[in-house]
Amino acid sequence: GFKSKVTVVGSGNWGSVAAKLIASNTLKHHSFHDEVRMWVFEETLQTGEKLTDVINKTNENVKYLPGIKLGKNVLADPDLDNAVKDANMLVFVTPHQFMEGICKRLVGKVRGDVEAISLIKGMEVKMEGPCMISNLISEQLGINCSVLMGANIANEIAVEKFSEATVGYRDNREIAEQWVKLFSTPYFMVTPVQDVEGVELCGTLKNIVAIAAGFVDGLDMGNNTKAAIMRIGLREMRAFSKLLFSSVRDSTFFESCGVADVITTCLGGRNRKVAEAFARNGGKRSFDELEAEMLQGQKLQGVSTAREVYEVLSHRGWLELFPLFTTVHEICTGRLPPSAIVEYSEKEPRLS
Ligand code: NAD
Ligand code: 13P
Repeated sequence: GFKSKVTVVGSGNWGSVAAKLIASNTLKHHSFHDEVRMWVFEETLQTGEKLTDVINKTNENVKYLPGIKLGKNVLADPDLDNAVKDANMLVFVTPHQFMEGICKRLVGKVRGDVEAISLIKGMEVKMEGPCMISNLISEQLGINCSVLMGANIANEIAVEKFSEATVGYRDNREIAEQWVKLFSTPYFMVTPVQDVEGVELCGTLKNIVAIAAGFVDGLDMGNNTKAAIMRIGLREMRAFSKLLFSSVRDSTFFESCGVADVITTCLGGRNRKVAEAFARNGGKRSFDELEAEMLQGQKLQGVSTAREVYEVLSHRGWLELFPLFTTVHEICTGRLPPSAIVEYSEKEPRLS
């Protein structure tokens, strides 16, 4: 019978774990071609070797996921066009800021009937307004795009600790089931939800909340404060999502992509970690500098997402409705000190 070919576009920390999950399933299910291609943004390691060659030789992404075997059926490919050209299923998983450029390069290069899924947490803001990454992919490439988001710190899934995830799909349940089959393992439980915008906005907006949580950690404010940040953040996530898309469902915020991702990211994520260091330094060292020093090539999404959301809020006259989102951006740019994160509570509006 027909076998779907899967390509993963991206090979960072989460991209590598996604390739590992998928590769274990393509071997198990006859409906998928065994080989999983993984596009690698090529770089030269300190040893002088190319990252792609090292991945193919050792079966490990030594830079972004050291110590984890990806599966022998993962083939790293530095040539984007070649990596995508025969794929029936495309998994996008790069930091969101690179997707506009990648989409431009991919126009006319993918099969017309390819199905896509985005694991990317972020958005773009264009003249016309905000554009979710799945939408960028589907509009630029003329293909359908689902999303997979959830409480998924990559390093924990890499060592096969149990977690859940949410697939958001538009209208075709069968396609959602295909994605669930491609990703599900005994330690990775995936649930489909018919709310692509809600799921993707959860994954995107929680990164702003994680920056706020990092600030309160850096200020040694304790657990009650952090819980308050999570609650207020979750409420702003829901309010913002519903203002952008009236179709967004309340129930989505109770899925893994919602409350669970807020919790795990505010406890153990990279955005939290770097924001804590930012606050400990009293805002004197920039996020760019701290990111480069602390994450060794991995990328934060929360700082740019705070800026992107701020642009939308100010353009639409909604700044006062979202004190947490607004304050995070103003702290990141140095306009306010980190302590301002807990000084807006009196302004907190009563959004239902
Ligand atoms: P990452 O943070 O490890 O980023 C590094 C990757 O970016 C590397 O593959 C690098 O080659 C690539 N890169 C650098 N410059 C590039 C360029 N100019 N063009 C294209 N690629 C370039 O990446 P990640 O952790 O795989 O995150 C990808 C997405 O997945 C993000 O939106 C993130 O929020 C989301 N996510 C991450 C995790 C996690 O725990 N890491 C979990 C869930 C979701
Ligand atoms: P960080 O990018 O903050 O590490 O968050 C990872 C994540 O999205 C967990 O679900």
